[in-house]
Amino acid sequence: MTDAAIVGTGPNGLAAAVTLARAGLRVELFEAADTIGGGLRTTALFDQDVEHDICAAVHPMAAASPFFRQFDLPAHGVRLLQPDMPYAHPLPGGDAAAAWRSISRTAEHLGADGPRWTRLMQPLVDRSRSVVDLLLSDLRTPPPDLVTGLLLAKRVLAHATSRTPFTTSAARALLTGVAAHAVGRLPSLPSAAVALLLAHTAHSTGWPLPEGGSARIADAMAADIKAHGGVFHLGHRVRDLAELGDVPLVMLDIAPRQFLDLAGPRLSPRYRRALSRYQYGPGAAKADFLVNGPVPWANPLVGQAGTVHLSGTRADTLRQENATVAGHRVPDPFVLVVDPAVTDPSRASGTKRPVWAYAHVPHGDPRDPVDLIRRRIEEYAPGFTDTIVAARGVSAAQYAQYNANYVGGDIAAGALTLRQSLARPTARWDPYTTPLPGVYLCSASTPPGPSVHGMCGNLAARSALRRHHGVRTAPSLAPDGKAV
Ligand SMILES: Cc1cc2nc3c(=O)[nH]c(=O)nc-3n(C[C@H](O)[C@H](O)[C@H](O)COP(=O)(O)OP(=O)(O)OC[C@H]3O[C@@H](n4cnc5c(N)ncnc54)[C@H](O)[C@@H]3O)c2cc1C
Repeated sequence: MTDAAIVGTGPNGLAAAVTLARAGLRVELFEAADTIGGGLRTTALFDQDVEHDICAAVHPMAAASPFFRQFDLPAHGVRLLQPDMPYAHPLPGGDAAAAWRSISRTAEHLGADGPRWTRLMQPLVDRSRSVVDLLLSDLRTPPPDLVTGLLLAKRVLAHATSRTPFTTSAARALLTGVAAHAVGRLPSLPSAAVALLLAHTAHSTGWPLPEGGSARIADAMAADIKAHGGVFHLGHRVRDLAELGDVPLVMLDIAPRQFLDLAGPRLSPRYRRALSRYQYGPGAAKADFLVNGPVPWANPLVGQAGTVHLSGTRADTLRQENATVAGHRVPDPFVLVVDPAVTDPSRASGTKRPVWAYAHVPHGDPRDPVDLIRRRIEEYAPGFTDTIVAARGVSAAQYAQYNANYVGGDIAAGALTLRQSLARPTARWDPYTTPLPGVYLCSASTPPGPSVHGMCGNLAARSALRRHHGVRTAPSLAPDGKAV
């Protein structure tokens, strides 16, 4: 007899399953694809010795989130490899801005803006755990640490306007490139919060890559679920909730649009209307390259970075992102590039290595992005094209076919507008509950939103445990089963 069915095995479905299984529930997981992991898949595409991360590659949130802090990936054999320079941002004309783990080294490189960078980041780094706990919460519970709340609010407000305290083009571009991870209008309150969350973790818990690729994170979670009695059904797309029978708890790692299909007429017209209003944002279009040798960045500093942001100046980045949100194709979109072997040499085989890159494009854009992304990298790394052995593009439209949660290629599973940051997916006090008894949403379409942190799944499972089993204390996730 199953206690809980989990539909979808992305990081949030797996985190929900880990939490419920640790509480002693018998869990069964249903995954549409033939492999587990959702956004955490790593596979060989062109050469059997070189593996590519199909979605997520870099894991600031898996290094920092309350769920993963307790779960303790390293204790499960996952080595989180830290680049000394988490990210870099080449600038037009050949200069480059960069963030090192060390704030002082970053400040030194930023010249006149160095002291401003330190004043912005150091207080957040000093309170990093509280900052992360606040932003990766259900965004309903009042922050236990009010000082951190105020400190953060002041900074978010200051960076949510078109004025920036920075005077150098390097510092301006550096922080704006991180804000662009919000894949939305710039500047805005949500993008400022994303920028400060990510930028400060570069100086605290880091932006690591799991040795061997992102799938190692999913594998570790799946092993833990199996060790606690969980059962997986792969290649099983759930098309109707009725398929799950009388199971008392259902956790859905899916976006609202699919929930409308799966639940059908069981949902009231009012709730259906509310879910139908949920907005999806711009798309991501990805290119995977098999290359011969490291990316030949014109500025060698950039070659040390775990992640590279290609979007030019702050003004360029604002223009690109706002046009993309409005549905316009720009010739020079924001592109993120990761050459994983820079941080994890085991990802290279001889001279061959993977290069992971995606561009922000309009919602549902059907264009193959390989040429667009190749040209964008070539601008800052002349000769890149000559290193390409093979390439594969996934358009924004194709991402939606690959994973139904990425509607229109929206890899955030819902636009990060102010309304949808607070009322995600609809305005309910407990955002994980649905009007159907025992049925919970636990995907990135619930708070705290996208990224590999496991918190949507963990918080949804804790809500279900409280409501259905009267469990008020969250189960321990620590490897030895003891509270931490
Ligand atoms: C190209 C790309 C790059 C990214 N880069 C990063 C990054 O570097 N770092 C980072 O932190 N995040 C990154 N992300 C975002 C991150 O991957 C997602 O935020 C995260 O995976 C969301 O987790 P989830 O569990 O909510 O959903 P998902 O990971 O989307 O998993 C949902 C799962 O549910 C399954 N499913 C859906 N419907 C059904 C059904 N009806 N029946 C059965 N199974 C179903 C899907 O097949 C999928 O396996 C990236 C995403 C993409 C696409």
